[in-house]
Amino acid sequence: VTARLLVKNVRPMGGPRVDLLVERGRIRERRAGIGVEGSMESVDGDGRLVLPGLVDGHMHLDKTFWGLPWRPHEAGPGLIDRIETERRLRAELRLSPASQSARLARQAIANGTTHIRTHVDVDMEVGLAGLDGLVATRKALADAVTIQIVAFPQSGVMTRPGTLELLEEAVRQGADLLGGLDPAGIDGDPKGQLDGIFAIAQRHGVGIDIHLHDPGELGAFQVELIAERTKALGLQGRVAISHAFCLGMLDGDRFGGLVERLVDNRIAIMTHAPGDRPFPPIRSLRAAGVTLFSGSDGVRDAWTPYGNADMLERAMLLGYRSAFRRDEEILLALEMVTVGGATVMGVEGYGLEVNCPADFVVVDGDAPAEAVISRPRRALVVKGGRVVAREGVAVV
Ligand SMILES: [Zn+2]
Repeated sequence: VTARLLVKNVRPMGGPRVDLLVERGRIRERRAGIGVEGSMESVDGDGRLVLPGLVDGHMHLDKTFWGLPWRPHEAGPGLIDRIETERRLRAELRLSPASQSARLARQAIANGTTHIRTHVDVDMEVGLAGLDGLVATRKALADAVTIQIVAFPQSGVMTRPGTLELLEEAVRQGADLLGGLDPAGIDGDPKGQLDGIFAIAQRHGVGIDIHLHDPGELGAFQVELIAERTKALGLQGRVAISHAFCLGMLDGDRFGGLVERLVDNRIAIMTHAPGDRPFPPIRSLRAAGVTLFSGSDGVRDAWTPYGNADMLERAMLLGYRSAFRRDEEILLALEMVTVGGATVMGVEGYGLEVNCPADFVVVDGDAPAEAVISRPRRALVVKGGRVVAREGVAVV
């Protein structure tokens, strides 16, 4: 780590040109005309934009095929087809969660991601092998990216006895949060799954991030159950619902009532802008005060051949699917992959101000909205004051 890093001639969020002096992992000065001293490493930003470190709030690092030869997609269209195809491929390919997660995390770093929340499969077949791999990657890349791990019951909870105990063991062994999966659609026992995971969360003082794909009223009913439990256990601000397709499928009154519960209990919503189905309406949720964030979700795995761990591209997809055209709308999408994700992950001091941790990305472009649209190569990525990628290539 260079003791002092001076990034000259850059425009934080497209504002006026300044120099950023980074010392002991933080931005210490932000002004024009900082002189270079002998002990500094100096980089000329040439008038480029600086964005805060990108936040990928929903990955599945443990099961990507990233870095392996191309595999044509094999699964059928349903959720169960995908789960079963994945289980078969997992056995056939014997992927190493440690090396696969490190490969994809490095790709994310190269794309300017400084914070990742990843789900990791925990079920009666893989046990905690995925978690062990992720814990190893989290440690190996600790100086280059912050990784938060969610213990994720990919095969269901109540239908697979023993899973709850395994999830609790995952928390003891280093998972930061508890996950869940369609308590009704997968388990047919919404109260059972939710009571089970909320009880573990409360015992261990961890947050919750639940995959909820169930559509329409079935999904809406479970959002209510999640909100009730969040309130009863005092977990406000520590619960997220990922996907929540149902929020894009309800009529005005029903939608409004649910939004009120989300806001009251500070439940965050993650959407990755799915290609083929209704999804949470970003503009109206944001206007109501719901915390929104985004993530890659699966990248090149048994679930999908798509994805490249690029959160500027994800912001572009969020904007594209939302028909955002004006800069202030496109900035809502950018906010989801920056401030929104940082809020959900509880990142302290996130931003580009003096004394913020020096986590940022330098890219070409006139304005932040342009960076979302053109997804330029990441010229420089700094994490904790350390250069972790240059010209689109991770150097860690
Ligand atoms: Zn997911």
